[in-house]
Amino acid sequence: MTETRIAESRCPNCGWHVSHTTNVDGEDIAPECGQLTLCYFCGAVMIFDAGLKPRWLTQDELENVLADRKLVFKLAQLVETLRFMPKGN
Ligand SMILES: [Zn+2]
Repeated sequence: MTETRIAESRCPNCGWHVSHTTNVDGEDIAPECGQLTLCYFCGAVMIFDAGLKPRWLTQDELENVLADRKLVFKLAQLVETLRFMPKGN
């Protein structure tokens, strides 16, 4: 997994300081506008805006995510994994 530095911002849910992102698929792909992201601290599901800052999903974006059962299952697994990751920002 490759960690990529992104513009500094805050998680809109918990205020966690965001400055890096990691592609959990293990592929060396740079983050892009429109990709889903999870807050490392609280597990909030968000999406990258054009400046690669995490924002809440719109209603349409959320409905699209919820319609994809495999994606919902994967997100749930990731959120559960994040619960046990060390925090120290
Ligand atoms: Zn958060």
